[in-house]
Amino acid sequence: MSLNSDIAIVGGGLIGPVLALACAKAGLKCVVVDAQSMDTRANAKFDGRAYALALASRRMLNALGIWQHVAEYAQNMNDIKVTDGRQGDGAAFLGLHFSSDEIEDGPMGSMLEDRYLRRTMMQMIDRHPDITHLSGTRVVAQTITAQGASLTLDDGSVVTTTLIVGADGRQSSTAARAGITRMGWDYKQTALVCAIAHEAPHNGIAHQFFMPSGPLAILPLPGNRSSIVWTEQHNLANAIHRLPDNDYLQVLRPRFGDFLGAIELCGPRHVYPLNLTIARSFTGPRVALAGDAAHGVHPIAGQGLNAGLRDVAALSEVLITAHQHGEDIASPAVLSRYAQWRSFDTAALATATDLFNRLFSNDNALLRMGRDLGMGLVNALPSARRTAIREAAGLNGDLPKLMQ
Ligand SMILES: Cc1cc2nc3c(=O)[nH]c(=O)nc-3n(C[C@H](O)[C@H](O)[C@H](O)COP(=O)(O)OP(=O)(O)OC[C@H]3O[C@@H](n4cnc5c(N)ncnc54)[C@H](O)[C@@H]3O)c2cc1C
Repeated sequence: MSLNSDIAIVGGGLIGPVLALACAKAGLKCVVVDAQSMDTRANAKFDGRAYALALASRRMLNALGIWQHVAEYAQNMNDIKVTDGRQGDGAAFLGLHFSSDEIEDGPMGSMLEDRYLRRTMMQMIDRHPDITHLSGTRVVAQTITAQGASLTLDDGSVVTTTLIVGADGRQSSTAARAGITRMGWDYKQTALVCAIAHEAPHNGIAHQFFMPSGPLAILPLPGNRSSIVWTEQHNLANAIHRLPDNDYLQVLRPRFGDFLGAIELCGPRHVYPLNLTIARSFTGPRVALAGDAAHGVHPIAGQGLNAGLRDVAALSEVLITAHQHGEDIASPAVLSRYAQWRSFDTAALATATDLFNRLFSNDNALLRMGRDLGMGLVNALPSARRTAIREAAGLNGDLPKLMQ
């Protein structure tokens, strides 16, 4: 089989399909290839995973006609509370409290289960006349010439294209084949992820407790349910993950106190070993990277997918403008517009998440006092608080049109 496209996207996780939908809207023909089968990717059962989507990301999904299909399953995040925490102690006295009431734009984010977002994307790319979706097929080679590029799939099929986009995750083979190297390190931490049902309502409040071993996020889901992203050192996390459900809850419970009343698990549990991995370049000849393929960061601020969506918004805007002006969408000049747009933002996100993780994931009394005072100070200054709220909502910086 041989297919022809304007953009061949390697990876049909979340970022690949959104890019295809954004570009196909302007008439660019896209092929999306993913190694996993549709059964695995569009599983309708709740698997415990959910995302904190910033307001800017929600606007973008709305502009692409995706949000309309998932809005009924989303939970607004009205407030975010950030505090130092210690097992058994509950939250420290000084901390940050961000409220959506302080900005004019509405709730600063929404929580959405992975299953709804993924299923909707799969349906939309399957239905779109300008998108070809190949599932259960791995890209094994790519060829670049001055005139164009091609992908070879593991069944021998070839996709010819103008531009290859690597949306193939943290171990992007598209980047490796293009000779793009990566920088980063292992955090020696693992995220334990699960969903809980609780007795008391969460009132749309997201909590981030900075525990000595790593951050613990409690993020509101519809009903009396919350998503937990809980970071521990590798060995302890793996030992906790092996515990039966009841014992697992016994370990979790004292870490965030009793403000939600009785809790129980309401979905499967997951573990994600955490690392930082940033591509040294976001583009190469006829290649662009987006999402985790470009930057895999610590989930401390729940910004990984949001940053990937910003890549998509910027890349699609650059490509569509070039296409409308009759430029080669994969020319070095066009691709460097994308790289320049995204590199500062990404470096800032990687540095901030890394710094916060180092600053907060320890029990040093002096650092603890300093960070508590720092948070108390930011909290007391309305302008600093407002800047932080707009940052959490994804509204700062040079926003692509899709997010405005
Ligand atoms: C614990 C945790 C919590 C998180 N919480 C949040 C949050 O609240 N908010 C947020 O914004 N982000 C969050 N993130 C980050 C978010 O999950 C990721 O940034 C996002 O899922 C990345 O999507 P992606 O499409 O770039 O990559 P992936 O989801 O990794 O998709 C890559 C796809 O490429 C395919 N692929 C790979 N190689 C090939 C090949 N050779 N051929 C064909 N296909 C291939 C794979 O099958 C896969 O489907 C969290 C991350 C973690 C670990």
